[in-house]
Amino acid sequence: MAVRAMVLHAPGQPLRLEELPIPEPAAGQVLLRVLACGVCRTDLHIVDGELTRPKLPLVPGHQIVGTAEDGRRLGVPWLGWTCGECRFCTTGRENLCERARFTGYDLDGGYAEYAVADERFCFPLPDGYPDLQAAPLLCAGLIGYRSLRLAGDAERLGLYGFGASAHIVAQVARHEGRRLFAFVRSGDERAAAFARELGADWAGDSLQPGPEELDAAIIFAPAGELVPAALRATARGGTVVCAGIHMSDIPSFPYERLWHERVVRSVANLTRRDGTEFLALAPQVPVHTEVETYALEAANEALGRLRAGGVRGAAVLAVPSAA
Ligand SMILES: [Zn+2]
Ligand SMILES: [Zn+2]
Repeated sequence: MAVRAMVLHAPGQPLRLEELPIPEPAAGQVLLRVLACGVCRTDLHIVDGELTRPKLPLVPGHQIVGTAEDGRRLGVPWLGWTCGECRFCTTGRENLCERARFTGYDLDGGYAEYAVADERFCFPLPDGYPDLQAAPLLCAGLIGYRSLRLAGDAERLGLYGFGASAHIVAQVARHEGRRLFAFVRSGDERAAAFARELGADWAGDSLQPGPEELDAAIIFAPAGELVPAALRATARGGTVVCAGIHMSDIPSFPYERLWHERVVRSVANLTRRDGTEFLALAPQVPVHTEVETYALEAANEALGRLRAGGVRGAAVLAVPSAA
């Protein structure tokens, strides 16, 4: 049986719609009929060649909602395989495993009608979420949740870039009683309005300090100049978390910006514990994901809109099966 998939052959080129043989699950893997797959900024970094070592040809996509042959609805995240033996894997830090393999990068992902995944890294999904609304929980939600956890106990939280991740983190942060400040590109009134709708006390220019000092900031936008800007907006002892997998170079800045125990740190990938915790928390908030839906064959269009910063909430591919 042939399976339709969107395939990357070389960075910088559009994905091509192709027919591939149905993937064969190896031992420990499950075959999934894909129902929906979220489109992530990381996919854009892979397609644009900023992440330089994808398997080629590649089926991208790491926010997969699918049904297994026994009828279970499962979600597949970015972390697709770890060794289970190294000092990271054995100490609750499998997100840092040096041999980790990633869905839609080292392994074929979900921009296809069928996918295979290591069952140990699949999550059962909460019932209240339709397929399209569940997809963004799997990376935007999960990485956002890990970033929020690593931001610590901050009462006044700054979010830099108000895309798929921020729109989920904002809801969790408000649920936890934090106050929100949204930092968006100068003049991006749409993003500012969206942030205020989701409970931000204030939304404004990302390169200027906010109306109050922040206790922590999370940077989702891949722009290095936001790091010194966020440090400047953050109070003594505050943490600036860089949530993306890729960022342009960080410009130099005076040590004074870091002084007084400010912390800059990155967040890499996720652990299965993050997944279990977040997918239990999301229906309690409840997190509502706002999605823009695209057909599988319109994946290039979805990526283009994400590149241009035009997506409100998260972009998701709806994948009907040919079977
Ligand atoms: Zn390992
Ligand atoms: Zn992602």
